[in-house]
Formats: sequence, structure tokens, C-alpha cells
Amino acid sequence: MSSNSKLEEIRKWIYDCVKCSNCKWLDEAGGHARSCPAGLKFRFESYYSSGKVWIARALLENKLEFSDSVIQKIYACPTCGNCQELCGMHVAEHLVEIFETLRAAAVEAGKGPLPSHKAFKESVDANRNPYGEPHESRLKWIGDLKIKEKAEIVYFVGCTAAYRRQEIASATLKLFNRMGVEFALTPDEWCCGSPLIRTGQIAGMKEIIEHNMKAMQDLGAKRIITACAGCYKTLSKDYPKILGRDLGVEIVHITDFILETVKDGTLKFEKESNETVTYHDPCHLGRHSKIYDSPRELIESVPGVKFIEMERNRERAWCCGAGGGVKSAFKEWSVEIAMERIEEAEKTGASKLITSCPFCKTNLLDAATAKNSTLKIYDITEYLLEKL
Ligand code: SF4
Ligand code: SF4
Repeated sequence: MSSNSKLEEIRKWIYDCVKCSNCKWLDEAGGHARSCPAGLKFRFESYYSSGKVWIARALLENKLEFSDSVIQKIYACPTCGNCQELCGMHVAEHLVEIFETLRAAAVEAGKGPLPSHKAFKESVDANRNPYGEPHESRLKWIGDLKIKEKAEIVYFVGCTAAYRRQEIASATLKLFNRMGVEFALTPDEWCCGSPLIRTGQIAGMKEIIEHNMKAMQDLGAKRIITACAGCYKTLSKDYPKILGRDLGVEIVHITDFILETVKDGTLKFEKESNETVTYHDPCHLGRHSKIYDSPRELIESVPGVKFIEMERNRERAWCCGAGGGVKSAFKEWSVEIAMERIEEAEKTGASKLITSCPFCKTNLLDAATAKNSTLKIYDITEYLLEKL
């Protein structure tokens, strides 16, 4: 029996891995396509999902300690979930949960997380965002625009859109206005906590959740809309799990929300498009939340658009490389992963690569710049706004 309570939580799953290695490759087109960014980069079994599951077993059985080498391996993973789609054992649906719990166990043991993760936790504690920006300037991007004080629809902006990708927050707001949606948002929104959960820094999460939910329910929220894949997964999946109860409000990703208004005829894309575009599934929206169709239906509802899939798409999409704390702790590798996605997008002949997550957009932009790519990177909100 391990003295680490977090390791005990995953005991029920980790003896199910049979080391078959199905999680390592996509068996497609008569060959083995690349699927696990971590294993493919670092080339040792311990970086693949099976390796991390067996690390968990050895830690639980006190045959291994959280050495620097073990810490490196458990944090060198963007938690993309590709392995979950490929594994055929019962452990499959728990793999990412196992990796995140391993990280929480490392934090509990006083050995994790990595220094850059500690820095963003300190910033979330002090500023309510991981970017070191003042909390008071969270809604600076709104300018003079008047927002309703109360509404049943509340827009949860998220830190990346509020501080780093304000064009996405603005596009979302403009789309709400064009849809005639009455909505509210709160200047006292806190970081949703995704960066903390992904890196095992879960102490204090209940306070964050209770604060955010109260702030939005005080506005009258019945439906909470977010245009961030990370916030969406955190609010819809992690919040109820951590609280152990239903939130009592509906959490909706912007793509599902806009699609409703396109289907009922409220929103129409008037501008003819004669361009070829492709779409990158954010891991948190696709594999983790199973939202694959709404973004595609929206893109294909633009008149004249030619939509081409990348070779690895939907459940098998190659990760952008930014998630799971990888963007902050392994900067170069993170962009390297995204460069592979840019190359794949370029092969479709598309002039625009559309995604539906501010964090994916940031990393794809960094990779496109590093590669001198002519591909234009769009968030779906910006793309759709352009077509009204
Ligand atoms: S994680 Fe699943 S697919 Fe991978 S080795 Fe273990 S059982 Fe096989
Ligand atoms: S989550 Fe992604 S990077 Fe991590 S082990 Fe699974 S496939 Fe590899």
C-alpha cells in the first residue's frame, strides 16, 4: 500500500495495461502513422502511455520514487488523449486521468510540478490568471461596449482569450450581437483552473469552481458559453467531477451554440467563399469532449467553401502540442509538435487552417511563424464572423 493517496485513486485501473503497444501508432493506410508526440520525441517506452502506466504501478508498489527522471517523463506529455482512442483495454478511457493523477501524486509527494508550472500557479493565486496580468484588466478588450448586467446566457471568456487572443473574445462578442443574443459576463471571472488540473496542482480547485459558478449564477446564468476548448472541458467535465455534483447549468461550446442559430435560420453566412480550408480538432474539444461535427458543419455552411480534412483528423488528430503544461515547460518541443500539424495542413492545399481554441491558435501561429508558412491561422469565431 502506498502512502500517496493520489496513487491509491488510480490503483483500480493501472493493472489493466497489458503492454500490447496498440497505443503507440495509428494503424492506417497500410502503415503506422505517428500518434503519440511524447513517445515519438523521446523514444523510450517510459514516455509512451503504457510506460507511464507502468511507472504508476512501480510507484504504487514502492519500487520507484519520484526522481527527477520520473518527473520529467510524467510531465513530458501534452495529455492529448490519442492513446485513449487506440487502446482496446478498459484502462483506455482513464489514461489521461491516470497521467493527471500521477502529476497530482508528484505534487502531493513534494516532487512536482516543473518550475514553469509552479510559476503559473503563483500567478493564478495572485492575479486569477496564469499570464501574470492584472486581474482588473481582464475585460480591457471590451472597450466601450455595453454588456448586460444580467442574462440567462453568460459568456465565459477564459484567460487566453482575455489576455493573449483578444481577437477571439471580440469575434465571439460580435457573433453574439449578430445573433441577437442577450448575454452577460463577469469582470470577476477567475482562471477556470485547467492549467492547474493538467499539471497536478489541484489544491484550491474547489474555491476556484465555487467562485466562478457563483459569479455566473449571480448574473442569472442558465447556459454558460465558452469559445475555449480547455475551458469547455474543464467546466463541463472537471467541475462536476471535482464538486461531486451536477452544476445545475448547461455548459455549451460556442460551435454548438452558433450551429443552433444557423440551423434555425437566425444566422446566415452571406459572403461567398472560394477558398480551400482545413480544420484542426483541439484535443480538449475533440477527443476529450467528442465535439467533432459542429465545427465542420459550421465551416461547410459557408457558401462556396472547399473543406478538406487533414490526413489525421477527428479522433486521430495530431495534437497542437500546447496542452498539459507542455507549452510552458517544453517550449521548443511544443512548437515542434505544432510544426508537424502545420505541414499536414499545408499538404491539403488549404490557404486557411481553422481551429476552435485560443491556445491551439497560439501554438499553431508560433509554428507557422517558425516555418515561414503562408497558411493563415484562424479561430472558428473569427472565420465565421468574416463570412457574415
Ligand atoms: S495502454 Fe492500452 S494499448 Fe497501451 S500498452 Fe497498455 S493496454 Fe496496450
Ligand atoms: S496523451 Fe498523447 S502524448 Fe501523452 S502518452 Fe497519450 S498519446 Fe502520448
